[in-house]
Amino acid sequence: MSLLATDPAEAARFRAFGPRQLDEIADRHGLPADIRETVRLVSMVLPFRVNEYVLSQLIDWDRIPDDPMFQLVFPQKGMLTEQNERDLATHAADPSGKVALRALVQQIRGRLNPHPSGQKELNVPTRDGAEIPGLQHKYRETVLYFPSQGQTCHSYCTYCFRWAQFVGDTELRFAAPDPRGLISYLEAHPDACDVLVTGGDPMVMSTERLRSHLEPLLSLESVRTIRIGTKSVAYWPQRYVTDPDADDVLRLFEKVVASGRNLAVMAHFSHPRELETDLARRALARIRDTGALVYCQAPLIAKVNDDPDVWSRMWRAELAAGAVPYYMFVERDTGPYDYFRVPLARAQEIYRDAYATLPGLARTVRGPVMSATPGKVAVDGVIEKAEGLFFQLRMAQARDPKLVGRPFLAHYDADAAWLDELRLDHSVPADIARALAGPAAAREPELFGNRAAAAAVGSQS
Ligand code: SF4
Repeated sequence: MSLLATDPAEAARFRAFGPRQLDEIADRHGLPADIRETVRLVSMVLPFRVNEYVLSQLIDWDRIPDDPMFQLVFPQKGMLTEQNERDLATHAADPSGKVALRALVQQIRGRLNPHPSGQKELNVPTRDGAEIPGLQHKYRETVLYFPSQGQTCHSYCTYCFRWAQFVGDTELRFAAPDPRGLISYLEAHPDACDVLVTGGDPMVMSTERLRSHLEPLLSLESVRTIRIGTKSVAYWPQRYVTDPDADDVLRLFEKVVASGRNLAVMAHFSHPRELETDLARRALARIRDTGALVYCQAPLIAKVNDDPDVWSRMWRAELAAGAVPYYMFVERDTGPYDYFRVPLARAQEIYRDAYATLPGLARTVRGPVMSATPGKVAVDGVIEKAEGLFFQLRMAQARDPKLVGRPFLAHYDADAAWLDELRLDHSVPADIARALAGPAAAREPELFGNRAAAAAVGSQS
């Protein structure tokens, strides 16, 4: 029996397809042999997952390989070096080369910077000296929570900065088996009023499972906002419309809203096509009917959305659906970064040109923003001074709250695509320069009052 569904009832049921179904997908959609081989090799290193909805409703198979949705979910030539691809092909063809193949795959992954921005070293809170699994605390108000059952997605994005979580390496995963560690951490950190439930994609969980992670948060008065980071509206809108527990999840959202919390669905849309289907529009309408807010964000990615017209259409579609355009991010320095990178100068042009087309209500969007080690750095523009051109930058968010909102300058570089490729101007204030220089300053435990908090957590155990 074919794994790919042909009858509509079967297609309506969520099933994930990966490298094992590649030949069937390729046969059905006429994927040329060379592209099939590339997908096979690159997906040994980078995660590959897709589903029926993405295959049949989002990808334009007449336009592959350039189709943006195809680029978004299928591994591509150029994501690894040609030498990597040759080595993978050689080892994969050798029946006795399994161990060597595994070592090669590990080696290539290790070179792809699996944890950018010090996520692993700097953001994981501790209790009695031991890391609390599945938590990150970078900004004073916000704790990120990674429920272990929500660490996959309905489909994987080839550019995902959390790709390391999906390749089965437990060393690289953040995952909390249950919310007990989160709850005791939040009890000790009442300033952390905002919990971002993220993954992977928490919306891959059944409603009952999601409930087991969300409802305990409602017992904490200090938690005022619960955010859910998800790409499910783009990749599997059935989650809110036709899945067996679609109505249940909406009732759960209503319960969170009725408790007086803000519930924000942080919807990840990469391309306006993801908002064009009837299912996606119905999903957004049903989510909004619960009282939840929908904020939209995505990175700017070469070959997927590096065009002002694409962003303009996407932000307008979001506004039309009653959602709030929120962030345009700069792609992070991880995974197949060279393949997707867009220089900051170009990113700023794309943002500005798209922003200029928007009605006022869609001008809620911020960007382009780098989510870097010291915080979120916005590229506000390019200015000309007697000494030459400069990037006008701003700390849109920071580990150290004293830095938030402060502007600074870096020398213009037409090719620079990330913060560490920029040369700061001599006028940059010392505290900002220190924070940008490296993680040492950000390790200061006083920033979140962590010493007192750690003692408080310790005393409860
Ligand atoms: S949906 Fe989000 S977490 Fe999942 S692969 Fe895409 S970017 Fe990564």
